[in-house]
Amino acid sequence: PSDASLVDFSNWLLSKGGVVPSVKPGPVPEGLGLIAQRDISRNEVVVEVPKKLWIDADTVASSEIGQVCGGLRPWVSIALFLLREKTLGDASPWKPYLNVLPSSTDSTIFWSEEELSQIQGTQLLSTTIGVKEYVESEFAKVEEEIILKSKNLFPGSITYDDFLWVFGILRSRSFSRLRGDNLALIPFADLINHNPDITSEDLAWEIKGKGLFGRDQFFSLRAPLFVKSGEQVCIQYDLEKSNAELALDYGFIESNPNRETYTLMLEIAESDPFYDDKLDIVETNGLNETAYFDIVLGQTLTPQLLPYLRLVALGGTDAFLLESIFRNTIWGHLELPVSRENEEAICRVVRDACKNALSAYDTSVEEDERLMESGNLDSRMKIAVGIRAGEKRVLQQIDSIFRNRESELDGLEYYQERRLKDLGLVGDNGEIIFWES
Ligand code: SAM
Repeated sequence: PSDASLVDFSNWLLSKGGVVPSVKPGPVPEGLGLIAQRDISRNEVVVEVPKKLWIDADTVASSEIGQVCGGLRPWVSIALFLLREKTLGDASPWKPYLNVLPSSTDSTIFWSEEELSQIQGTQLLSTTIGVKEYVESEFAKVEEEIILKSKNLFPGSITYDDFLWVFGILRSRSFSRLRGDNLALIPFADLINHNPDITSEDLAWEIKGKGLFGRDQFFSLRAPLFVKSGEQVCIQYDLEKSNAELALDYGFIESNPNRETYTLMLEIAESDPFYDDKLDIVETNGLNETAYFDIVLGQTLTPQLLPYLRLVALGGTDAFLLESIFRNTIWGHLELPVSRENEEAICRVVRDACKNALSAYDTSVEEDERLMESGNLDSRMKIAVGIRAGEKRVLQQIDSIFRNRESELDGLEYYQERRLKDLGLVGDNGEIIFWES
């Protein structure tokens, strides 16, 4: 955006009751950002945006298209609202804001086929494809049911590409507690960029004024750290997101190992001879037929992963544990090794899955690391290489955990031994105690 459109935008905000005591929008390496006009202390308010400038489900409901957007999910109705305002051009009261929105980000949803080929084999690629299919099907629905049926309300053309763009805008510009039903765009405040060095989400913003003497609500953004005049004010977007989620939502990643994850998906197959019992057991323990376990680099396995795995593999002479008399205690048994066969099976299954997944990537971790060190990658290549290296590192970690387990199978204690011990039939050195006759 031009300097003039940035000035227009600031003036627009001020004329509508916004308060900007200490920052100005301006160009920064991350696109646009908020630049301190004087030293700003920690916890100082940098901008206040009144509710009448937020774009949320209420904005759409009270607009000309409110009537036809009734049953839509908030994001879909907000998407339609923004796209329609865009087609109105000068006639739109939101023009100063629309003018400063970026035409795209580095989110993988905007990557070309060639760029996507750089994440061949990754979970991020399948998620990206899935998300685009979802957006496409949502677009097909609103096009048929709303846009084409209300030509008078939507005189301009709105395409799938427009819809994907606005989806990307909403994903990248919504604040972490303002999603789902509370989804809202907060003009101006949404110019704030993410800084990985800020490791707390506290302080950054709050909604104020609710019900206070009938005063309007406003969104108040604060500086989480001291910022020198001329430098950029940033926040931490979301500590919970993995690099894959950051790449998909915003188009950047961090070099923080806690963001490197791989999601293992496990399921009770319908073809399993004990399908009904196993399903009952997982459901009793708050899990489902299909379960997802996020494994994080350098961290221990999610506690419920091993019991779930053991249950999936349970069969043969261990199947008696599935009988209903064990129903209340089965999960406790599954938290510890059940039998050598069962433990061996889970190691084999997991290691095969890791090998399989690892063989789908085009490059090795070492090749990726060399590329990263070479330093001449563009922003999307950096994301691609970082993501595929990260996933592989986690897969290698999972494989090594189960490789170690495999080598310890003889030394583990299994259900039958624990049981005999409980009954007092095994001595401390493992010898079976016989009664004298
Ligand atoms: N820079 C944005 C703009 O020009 O409108 C304003 C922030 S907007 C809420 C989020 C987007 O800013 C992201 O999708 C990404 O494109 C960019 N961004 C924010 N923080 C970033 C960072 N640390 N590194 C790279 N890009 C960043």
